Amino acid sequence: MQRPGLYGQGDLRNSDTMTDDMKQRFANITQAGTDVLIIGAGVNGAGLFRDLSLQGLNCVILDKADFGSGTSAAPSRLIHGGLKYLETGEFGLVAQSTLERNLLLKNAAHCVEPLPTFIPVFSWTQGIWAALRTLFGSKTAPRSRGAVLVKIGLSLYDYFGSRDQVMPRHRLVLKRRARQEMPHVTEDIVAGGIYYDAKISRPERLVFELVDDGLKANGNCLAAGSATLVSSQAGRLTFALADGTELSLQPKLVVNAAGPWIDKVNAALGEPSRLIGGTKGSHILLDHPELVRSLNGHMIYFEADDGRICLVYSYLGLALVGSTDIPASNPDDVRCEEPEIDYFLESLRSLLPTLRFDRRQVTFSYSGIRPLPASDATAPGLISRDHSAPVIEPRGDRPFAIMSLVGGKWTTFRGFAEEAADTVLARIGRKRALSTRYLAIGGGRDFPTDASARNEWVRATAQATGRPEKRVDELLARYGTTASAILTSKSAHGDDERISGALHYSHLEIDWIARQELVVHLSDIVLRRTTLAIEGCLTMEGLQDIAGIAGAALGWSEERISREVADVMTVLREFHAQDIRSDRGGAAEAPIFRPASA
Ligand SMILES: Cc1cc2nc3c(=O)[nH]c(=O)nc-3n(C[C@H](O)[C@H](O)[C@H](O)COP(=O)(O)OP(=O)(O)OC[C@H]3O[C@@H](n4cnc5c(N)ncnc54)[C@H](O)[C@@H]3O)c2cc1C
Repeated sequence: MQRPGLYGQGDLRNSDTMTDDMKQRFANITQAGTDVLIIGAGVNGAGLFRDLSLQGLNCVILDKADFGSGTSAAPSRLIHGGLKYLETGEFGLVAQSTLERNLLLKNAAHCVEPLPTFIPVFSWTQGIWAALRTLFGSKTAPRSRGAVLVKIGLSLYDYFGSRDQVMPRHRLVLKRRARQEMPHVTEDIVAGGIYYDAKISRPERLVFELVDDGLKANGNCLAAGSATLVSSQAGRLTFALADGTELSLQPKLVVNAAGPWIDKVNAALGEPSRLIGGTKGSHILLDHPELVRSLNGHMIYFEADDGRICLVYSYLGLALVGSTDIPASNPDDVRCEEPEIDYFLESLRSLLPTLRFDRRQVTFSYSGIRPLPASDATAPGLISRDHSAPVIEPRGDRPFAIMSLVGGKWTTFRGFAEEAADTVLARIGRKRALSTRYLAIGGGRDFPTDASARNEWVRATAQATGRPEKRVDELLARYGTTASAILTSKSAHGDDERISGALHYSHLEIDWIARQELVVHLSDIVLRRTTLAIEGCLTMEGLQDIAGIAGAALGWSEERISREVADVMTVLREFHAQDIRSDRGGAAEAPIFRPASA
């Protein structure tokens, strides 16, 4: 089964989802022409769209589903330098990743924050020879990294992360001290390493914010989700948009940013390729307050019994556990399977033997395909996470080049976009007008970073909007400084009206998102513009509230509203191990949708 409603099969021809702004952009792009068409709006496509729009290029970005709904919605949610890439000698990648991590802590301060990380160490000297072999190109992964190796690794990591550094350096502590800091960690450790990386609370939302920044920068740019490529002929590409409108473009250059779908998109463009050799990675979220409390804000980055690196840390009040690394190829049908859940729970039991783990604590799961470059490495963990942008030159009746954005990490999207944008600019004969290096993203703009600036922002916004300071602070944490636009928006809904079962979300917020954030489906709201589904607070009544508000904003019929609710329930059950229940208890029945002809 493929994800219904998420992957472009929806029949939306009876709804008019095109806003006035979109109509204007449509007209502008038709008149001015398209410099660059980007196919795929994951973090790599969205990052490039923002960069090129800022340089004044006329850009179109289209996704067959929603912005940030592919692999970019499935990461470990770390903004990290890639400690384990030191083992494979990818020092350049570590240097770039640590720099980008440090920049994101500043540019997306509304959703990226420091993450103190604990590494349990089980021996003093193990792993040195294996690590040297890997460093010199062996295709087998090292197992069991002892204290000496961890110390060398963390020192190098600090060294590479010193550019634009904002976080403290590492420490290595002996067993007694380590177990004081992490009391449930197994007695078998001899020491613990503590260092800093970062986590991102809302990666899906940040992808949308990148697209939105691009749109705000340039009125001749266009972005649409649920767009299906229907033909590619004689340099003209035609897409069907969600409302049935056809968009026909003759771009100067095409960027294939379809992540794990890259080879499929190249084939659809008439240029079969074998660039991607993906592996699947899954995560689960546990409702486990005792574990969350004991982590005390730390991530534990540990070796499972089979030598794989796993992680656990607190995320939106839940415990996020990941990840697996299994060769897989169909990104349209990827989910966390039961044996993966068993593997995570078993690994946690060995790491934290005094805590209890069972299947009923799992509230959400997700999975994605790493769009790694095709490789012959025997261990998936050893395939390079570096990126590249190979170009297929124009030929025959195809006058445009196709550049594919292969590999990379969430963390490094800005640097990757900058490199790709420079190549595009050179090919089109334009110069870079602006660097994105120190440019805040979306709700990170003018974000108050220290406590006194934050208090002042909250106080001033509370005064201007008449909302309580506690509520303003909650929305600032969720949307960054966009909170102020939400609270001052004109709407038939109030911020005191709340979503059933998710009382921390208001009708006003949902109305704003539906109107302002290029929403096509209900799933866009509950899975990506917000973290409602991942937080596990959706109920049947809540979903109906949200669908009703979105439906009123977007002109959905009653029939469409029921179908959207049913689709979300199916997606959550089939792909995220989540059964929606009624506020009144008990499993909820999906609303019955009968097509008009039935
Ligand atoms: C398990 C796992 C854990 C990870 N953890 C981390 C981490 O903690 N930190 C980190 O930095 N990185 C992490 N990564 C890597 C990171 O998530 C990816 O490198 C990144 O998200 C890839 O983004 P992308 O834009 O290339 O691909 P995607 O996000 O997959 O975007 C591709 C887009 O193309 C669209 N598309 C496909 N076909 C078409 C078509 N025909 N027409 C139009 N659109 C199309 C899709 O709908 C999709 O939205 C992780 C990856 C995985 C799988």
